[in-house]
Amino acid sequence: MTIQLRGSQMLVVGAGIMGAGIAQVAAQAGHAVLLFDAREGVAREAKAALETTFEGLVVKGKLTDEAAQTILSRIEPIAALEVATHVLLVVEAIVENLELKRGLFQQLESLVSPQCVLATNTSSISVTAIANGLEHPGRLVGMHFFNPVPLMKLVEVVSGLQTDPHVAEAVFDLAKAWGKVPVRTKSTPGFIVNRIARPFYAEALALLLEQAAAPQVLDACIRAAGFRMGPCELMDLIGHDTNFAVTSSVYEANFYDARYRPSLVQREMVDGGLLGRKSGRGFYHYQGDGAGVPPLPMALHDAPATAREVVVHGEGSIADALEQAATKALAAQGWGPARARDSDWTGVAIDGARLVLTDGRCADELAARWGLRDVVVFDRPGVLPPPAGTALAYATAGAASQAWRTQAPAWLAAFGFVPLPLADAPGLVVARTIAMLINEAADAVQQGVCSVTDADASMRLGVNYPRGPFEWLAWWNAREVVALLDALDAHYRGERYRASPWLRRAAAPT
Ligand code: NAD
Repeated sequence: MTIQLRGSQMLVVGAGIMGAGIAQVAAQAGHAVLLFDAREGVAREAKAALETTFEGLVVKGKLTDEAAQTILSRIEPIAALEVATHVLLVVEAIVENLELKRGLFQQLESLVSPQCVLATNTSSISVTAIANGLEHPGRLVGMHFFNPVPLMKLVEVVSGLQTDPHVAEAVFDLAKAWGKVPVRTKSTPGFIVNRIARPFYAEALALLLEQAAAPQVLDACIRAAGFRMGPCELMDLIGHDTNFAVTSSVYEANFYDARYRPSLVQREMVDGGLLGRKSGRGFYHYQGDGAGVPPLPMALHDAPATAREVVVHGEGSIADALEQAATKALAAQGWGPARARDSDWTGVAIDGARLVLTDGRCADELAARWGLRDVVVFDRPGVLPPPAGTALAYATAGAASQAWRTQAPAWLAAFGFVPLPLADAPGLVVARTIAMLINEAADAVQQGVCSVTDADASMRLGVNYPRGPFEWLAWWNAREVVALLDALDAHYRGERYRASPWLRRAAAPT
């Protein structure tokens, strides 16, 4: 049985930010859209706002006046749901409240035909729970758009326990017809995007809690790995209240699994009304004197002192990039680095002192293991070869000599990085964040929440990540990711950094 929804008459309930956007996209795709909001006049205002938006687009030449009028004529604000008995699709975008959503769908069932598909745009409530109590629960499906709806390509099509697969497929096809990129997911906490994205914020908050670095340092490191925004500036933009609420709901819904535990750092900010841009202050100030992101604690580094021996250790793309950078840095002195490919660590040894790519162990731990004082650990570059000026976190062993404390960042600078000091936290910033994103995605796949390809598409299109988690994994490798997670797990002890069984299997020798 195929359900055909393309071009059908439809109803959007809730004419707020999301409902208005959904009505616009549906009307642009040719649907006759009835728009209803419980607050009187809101549906009319939403249409009027769309008229203004379209006038702007017509002036800019992006839309013809005729097309704008045609699309607008397809949207009809209505004052009572009873007008909508004939529709074949309802998309609900009302307030995020289970009882209200359930009540609405039960009311709708008494109005529309049994064939009418019911879709909810909920971002965090279980689709299975919303369907509970419906006469035909199979017709209820999640259709989770992202804000702003006309611009964001991703739609998560969410199947609850009772959702009829034909209904999910019909909504999937419909989203495609609307020019979106739909992905399939199960009704589990956070669906795909809001689940896999948790560590992006959580790792920054964990580093802040242990005072490893200032927010602007974390942001600079993550941006250098190709992300459009760092986690702190992004939380400021989203609003700490909203971000905290999503984290808390995913945490609660997972029966308080420590993996998802919210942060005291953010809780304090919410309690204090430091909500981010919207309140004028979050991690950064947005008003008055000193507004903006504070400068990075950057030191100017002299060229490193002349060395007698430089050896690049390890295999792989990062070791290769380091060899290139060291070759360039030493060219002026007329010699180049040696290479030790079969080494069990990646990095550069300079007259016996070590610059080590993080494998999850702290600089202190490596120094103790190797019986060396002069050890500095550096973060994983997210872009190879790293463009000049790439911010890179590093941490110095407590016992390191004064000379190595200045020479190590001077060498990183000579290799083209902007070295940013961090406390000796395992996995530093980029490596631990990306490892945890991969780990979360691996668990989602293991649990049948989504496919590998859909996880990647979701994170690229839903939150604009430069790569999906499995694309990061292909660029890194499962064995090293698991080793890094195990090192974090050994350091912090607890459930948070437990490696996904899927990832462990992928890391096992074949
Ligand atoms: P909003 O507050 O802008 O709009 C909600 C609208 O629903 C309001 O106009 C309100 O008057 C109306 N409403 C409330 N109860 C109603 C009822 N019983 N019947 C009819 N109308 C009712 O909220 P929003 O941001 O558009 O979010 C709507 C839904 O979309 C929520 O479930 C939210 O979780 C989800 N969502 C939001 C975003 C986002 O970024 N804002 C993204 C994805 C999903």
